[in-house]
Amino acid sequence: MMIDPFGRAISYVRISVTDRCDFRCVYCMAEDMTFLPKKDLLTLEELDRLCSAFVDLGVRKIRLTGGEPLVRRNIMSLVRSLGRHLRAGALAELTITTNGSQLDRFAAELYGCGVRRVNVSLDTLDPGRFQAITRWGKYDKVMAGIAAAKAAGLQVKINMVALKGVNEDEFDRMIAWCGAEGFDLTLIETMPLGDIDGDRTDQYLPLSLVRARLEQRWKLTDLPDRTGGPARYVRIEETGGRLGLITPLTHNFCESCNRVRVTCTGRMYMCLGQEDEADLCAPLRASEGDELLRAAILEGIARKPKGHDFVIDRRHKRPAVKRHMSVTGG
Ligand code: SAM
Repeated sequence: MMIDPFGRAISYVRISVTDRCDFRCVYCMAEDMTFLPKKDLLTLEELDRLCSAFVDLGVRKIRLTGGEPLVRRNIMSLVRSLGRHLRAGALAELTITTNGSQLDRFAAELYGCGVRRVNVSLDTLDPGRFQAITRWGKYDKVMAGIAAAKAAGLQVKINMVALKGVNEDEFDRMIAWCGAEGFDLTLIETMPLGDIDGDRTDQYLPLSLVRARLEQRWKLTDLPDRTGGPARYVRIEETGGRLGLITPLTHNFCESCNRVRVTCTGRMYMCLGQEDEADLCAPLRASEGDELLRAAILEGIARKPKGHDFVIDRRHKRPAVKRHMSVTGG
C-alpha cells in the first residue's frame, strides 16, 4: 500500500492513453490543437508495465482516459491484457472514461475484458447543442454507443459539465433521462485547465447554485458514498438515481484524495491542480525490470501535495494550470 505524506492511501490511478480526441469540446480544447508526435507516447506494452507496477504497489482501481481512450489504435489489447489483474483479484476495478463515439464498436468487448462500468461524457440531450459544444461530435453515434454499453451490461455514468448559459436549462431533463435509463449522473464544474478559444469565466457555474435550483424541483437526499474523489453524492428520490456533484472550485475535496494521474508520455501528476510531476518514462525505459520504475513512483507519491490551487482568475483570464484536461485526462 502506498501512503503519501498526509496519510492518504493511494489506491487509484487514472492513466491517459492518448492526448488525441475526435471531439473538440469548447471548454476542453481549442479547435486547432497540436497533439504530441506519436513517437512520444508510451507504447501499449509500456502502459501495461506501468499499470502492472501500480497494481503491484497496491493500486486497486485503474481508469483509462485521454484524450479519447477508445481512439488509441489497438487499445483493446491493453484492456484485454489488464483484465488479468481483475481475474487474479489484484485489481478491483478497471474502468474507462469516454466520449462514447466508439462505444457501439467496443462495448461488448470491454465487458468481455472485465470492465463493468464506463463514464460517458454527455453535456446535452439536444443534438444541435451537442454539435455546438463538441464541435466535431456525432450525436446519434454517441447515443448508439450509450445504448450499446447498456445492452452489453455495462453500468453507465453520465458526466455532464455544467456550463453557464449553455446547458444550465437541461439539468432537469438530464436527471429524468438518466433516471429512466438507470444511469447515474455527475455534474462537473468547469476547471481552469489549459488555454481554450474563449473566456472560461463566462462558462463557470457554481454547483452550489445548481443544487439550490434542483432542490426546488427534486427531493435530494445526501448520501454518505465517497469514492475518495471530488464528488459528493445525493439520491434523487423521484427517480431513485444517484447524482454526483464535482465541485473543485466551491469545495475543497483534497483531504480524501486517493489518486494520481499519469499522462500518455509517462509523467505522473500527483495533483490535477498542480504542476509538480514525476517522470516515469525514463525509469520505465532504463531497464527491463521494474525496480527503477517502482522507486520513481514511490518518490513521486512522497511529494504528493496537500491540495490544489485552482482559482478562476477573473482579472487575468488565464488558466490556473497550463496543461489541458486532455493531457492529464479527466
Ligand atoms: N474523451 C473522454 C471523455 O470525453 O470523457 C476522456 C477525457 S475528457 C478530458 C474527461 C472529462 O473531462 C470529460 O467529462 C470532459 O467533459 C471533462 N473536462 C474537460 N475539460 C474540462 C474542464 N476544463 N473542466 C471540467 N471538466 C472538463
